[in-house]
This record gives sequence, C-alpha cells and structure tokens, in this order.
Amino acid sequence: MAVDYETMNKIVKKALSLGKKELPKGRVADYIPELAKARPDALGICVVGPDGTACKAGDTNLPFSIQSISKVISLCMALELHGVDAVFSRVGMEPSGVAFNSIVELDLQSGKPHNPFINSGAITVESMIIDYRSFEDMLEFTRALCLDQDITLNRQVFNSEMATCDRNRAIAYLLKSKNVITTNVDSSIELYTKMCSLNVTAESLANFGLVLALGGIDPRSGKRLLKAGTVQTVKTIMLTCGMYDGSGQFAVEVGIPTKSGVGGGLLSVVDKRMGIGVYGPALDEKGNCVAGKVMLKYLADKLGLHLFQG
Ligand code: GLN
Repeated sequence: MAVDYETMNKIVKKALSLGKKELPKGRVADYIPELAKARPDALGICVVGPDGTACKAGDTNLPFSIQSISKVISLCMALELHGVDAVFSRVGMEPSGVAFNSIVELDLQSGKPHNPFINSGAITVESMIIDYRSFEDMLEFTRALCLDQDITLNRQVFNSEMATCDRNRAIAYLLKSKNVITTNVDSSIELYTKMCSLNVTAESLANFGLVLALGGIDPRSGKRLLKAGTVQTVKTIMLTCGMYDGSGQFAVEVGIPTKSGVGGGLLSVVDKRMGIGVYGPALDEKGNCVAGKVMLKYLADKLGLHLFQG
C-alpha cells in the first residue's frame, strides 16, 4: 500500500464511521424473503494491498450471500471457456439504464441482454456454462478467486430465491424464445440462483478484488488464475455496468470499478493497487449498499484512487 499500515487502518476506520451515518437512508432487500433477515445496521469494509496485508473495520467476517457479485465470477468463467467474441455475441456490453431485473425492453429490442451484469445477461452467461462446468466446479472456482476455502452454498437463501424467482424464470424463457439461450433453461436458472446464494464475507470480496487488480494473479502463490484479457474485460464492464442504473454516477463520483449485490456486498478493484470488499445490507433505491458509496468515495478522495485522478 502507498501509505503505511497504521495510517491505512485509521483511514478505513474513518470510512466505516462515515458509512454508518448513511445506514438510516437504506433498506434491506426483502423481495427474496431470506434476505430480509439481514441486520440493517451491519457494516464492514476490508482493504487488501498487493502484499496481501488486510486492513479491516466493522463486520468483515460476517457471511452474507454474494448475489449479483457472482455475475462477475460467472462472466470470468464464460470468457475463459469461450472467449470474448462468443460471449458478447449473446450478451451486450452497454449499460442498461434500467433496473437489474427489468424485462420490458428485453422484449422490445432485438432481444440481446444489455450486459452480463443485469439478470437477463447473467442468466444467459450461465446458459453458456452449464454444459461445461458443474455447480461444484463453479464453487471451487469461486473459492480460488476469493482466496477463501470457506465459501459455501447458503441453502436457505437458495431455497428462498428458487421459490420466488418467477421473474427470472420469465426472463429466461423469453431469452429461450429468442434463441439467446439455447441450452436448458431450468439448469441455467438453477446455476444462476446457486451462484447468487454463495456465502462470502467482505474479506473474501477484497481478496477477489485484489486478484482482479493484479490482472488475474493469485498474490499468495503467484499462480495465474485468469487470463489477462478476461480480467481486462471484466474490470471494464464493472466500471460501466457494475452498479446497475447507478453506474454512471458512481463512476464519475468514485471512479473505482465496483460490482454490487442485493445481499449488501460490494467488490471493488483499484487497478494494480488493492482490492476492497464491503458488506452493508442496507441498500439504496437502485439496490446498491447505501453506505458503500460514501465509504469508497472517502477512500478514493483520501488515497487518490479514482481511475482518472487528476
Ligand atoms: N439473485 C438476485 C436476483 O436475481 C440477484 C440480484 C442482485 O443482486 N441485484 O434478483
């Protein structure tokens, strides 16, 4: 890290205290019944530097479901398996400007989902994986990328979402009718929902952020986990589409490629410098951790982390 450990610790603690003030503005997601059980006052942030040193504050080891952040992992796998041209022949790479589970414009337009980080795009990505990798393979892949062997499936969250994901099923069948999904719809939905139901921590997300910051290299073993091209693509889509229809504002104000999930997680990548993981299930109206933006903006301003820092 550019600053010493003590200073970094102080900055991370200050970020947490600023984030806590935002919590009353947020609401825990309840459209998946199991998610409504999260503590709205939970908040944690973990920053991991290139040498693996972690600075943490708050609830950084509390497990929560990864939700949409798993879309990054699945995109990594699809790119590794099929390459950039094949993946983006089925899914676009443009911000959608509408809610993550929107269905209307999917039918009105040609049918190709806007990008891999909204539900329609992510379910399409899963449909490109199911014939090549099992859920167990994807779990191992996730553990490797997050440098965390303790990641497991949260069965309660999985069952809860499977019982209530009619909208995702509708999206998937619409995609099948348009020949965007050409494999089994039910298996695609099952893998998508299982990936969303993986339990992670803010620390596991920070580790994953660091692997991406280092271009796909495991900082502990020096082993390459992802191709450099895969990581370049994924980080770019995180910047343009990672915060749903709040991506533009976040990119301008914070300038750190980030992916959110409705479980309250944020995965952030400061290229070549650090990975950041956040947990805070109180969400803003777009489904992003309400305290996360303030915490990341504070870090960006304090440490000069904006991608286009002047
Ligand atoms: N599993 C959730 C869903 O499909 C993921 C959404 C999210 O995190 N934005 O609705």
